[in-house]
Amino acid sequence: MSSPKFRVAICGGGIGGLICALALSRYPDIQVDVYEAAREMAEIGAGIGLWPRTWKILQSLGLENDLAEAAVSRPTNLPRVAFTFRKGDQPLGLTFNQLVTPGGLITFHRPDFQKVILKHLPPSCRTHTHKRLVSYLHGPASSSAQPPIHLHFRDGSTAVCDVLIGADGIKSAVRGTMLRELASQAQAAGKPEEAQQHLAGIEPRWSGASMFRTTFSADLLRQHLPGHRVLREPLVYLGKDTQLTVYPISRGSRINFAATVANFDQEGSTFEGPWVEDVPPFDLINHFSRWEPEVQSLLQCIETVGRWSMHTVVPLKTFVSGRVALLGDAAHAMLPYQGAGACQAIEDALLLSELLGHPLTTPFTLPRALSIYDTTRRPFAQHVAETSRENGLLYTLNYPGLRFDRPEDRDEDNKMRRLGEVYYRIRRNWAWAWETTVEGDVERARGMLEGGGSVNGVAAAS
Ligand SMILES: Cc1cc2nc3c(=O)[nH]c(=O)nc-3n(C[C@H](O)[C@H](O)[C@H](O)COP(=O)(O)OP(=O)(O)OC[C@H]3O[C@@H](n4cnc5c(N)ncnc54)[C@H](O)[C@@H]3O)c2cc1C
Repeated sequence: MSSPKFRVAICGGGIGGLICALALSRYPDIQVDVYEAAREMAEIGAGIGLWPRTWKILQSLGLENDLAEAAVSRPTNLPRVAFTFRKGDQPLGLTFNQLVTPGGLITFHRPDFQKVILKHLPPSCRTHTHKRLVSYLHGPASSSAQPPIHLHFRDGSTAVCDVLIGADGIKSAVRGTMLRELASQAQAAGKPEEAQQHLAGIEPRWSGASMFRTTFSADLLRQHLPGHRVLREPLVYLGKDTQLTVYPISRGSRINFAATVANFDQEGSTFEGPWVEDVPPFDLINHFSRWEPEVQSLLQCIETVGRWSMHTVVPLKTFVSGRVALLGDAAHAMLPYQGAGACQAIEDALLLSELLGHPLTTPFTLPRALSIYDTTRRPFAQHVAETSRENGLLYTLNYPGLRFDRPEDRDEDNKMRRLGEVYYRIRRNWAWAWETTVEGDVERARGMLEGGGSVNGVAAAS
């Protein structure tokens, strides 16, 4: 490459960081380096579901054919059952609705999904593994050029860039440095409350929910219960304080299993112990002892299981500061009850790359481009985070006014009416995933970039 327009460093090689690198590789005048803390690029061996809104982005990046090979079946626009909803915490389970959407939920085994992205990443995007960012610093100002951003890694090495993208997940080091910097600026400007708000965004917040995840062979499930409905389609089983999401992955040869055990009253308290650990299967199975037989068949297939304590990032006041931007879980880690965290990371990546790759974006106009990213993406991603949390309350039958644990709730008509209300709310919360597109946001962002005028107080270059 001759001298690049600017150098982008992406910190974190998860789904968000890698898609961002791939999307930026469409602009040959941008230099891209990905710094990943792990010794190799690897995803956990669990499932992931994507929605049509996100699928269109992956199509536009040329991933469609390879991803379709790894999906359960080739994604289409035809109506499909995205999820069957069943109340499972009783001896005789009850299907109370089916969510049918254009294209349904497109499911993958995470390592398959990541392999496809890596396969498409051109060599011009340099990836550096075993590079854990500790912090960054702005270089000294100069009148002729924008000062570089200096990256400091745990192994003592350093690197420089013109734009830093923090795609380093829920415990983001980029977020920590950025919010501390914004807090001291607010403090210096005599705005202590704003400073506190920034500082409050640094540490993730415990949600009160733990998720137990594993996958197992579909043949094993067939042995326990031939014709189990998850062999055909995704399911959400709802129950009081517990829920189960299961769907086929790896072209139908495996089943992805994710179970929640929640006490949302603990939200905001401190979680003691490791956030992620392998646990004996009976730690999970005990919570489901009174559930219906088809759930017992699923539980019988579990050989190993990991427990994730579910933390989130509180709604931040901004995703950007100067020439630094946050993306994906670093910006908005959310509860997984809309299968949306990775989808939102991919949307962030696309929009950010469109703005950075735009001919009007230069080293001097970078803060304005990032400000447009923040204005366009933050409200949407934070809304999805909020409705994902709400779906968590609905799935675990904890939604205010829609509980099922009082004596009068046992009345069947009453129960069906309230399950209908639960479904209505879940569907309404989720409709963004198939009723809206990202193109509109990209157009709006482009319009702002080309339209001149200041964005969030950042003026257009004269
Ligand atoms: C149980 C569960 C189920 C889910 N199901 C779905 C689903 O079906 N659909 C969906 O869309 N989303 C789902 N999600 C959410 C999704 O997994 C995340 O939102 C998504 O993986 C976030 O991607 P990311 O790239 O932002 O972060 P991550 O995947 O966390 O990647 C961050 C990367 O940065 C690296 N890193 C961390 N710190 C540093 C550092 N200091 N320096 C350098 N590198 C660093 C990490 O090693 C990692 O590789 C689910 C989440 C959970 C917990």
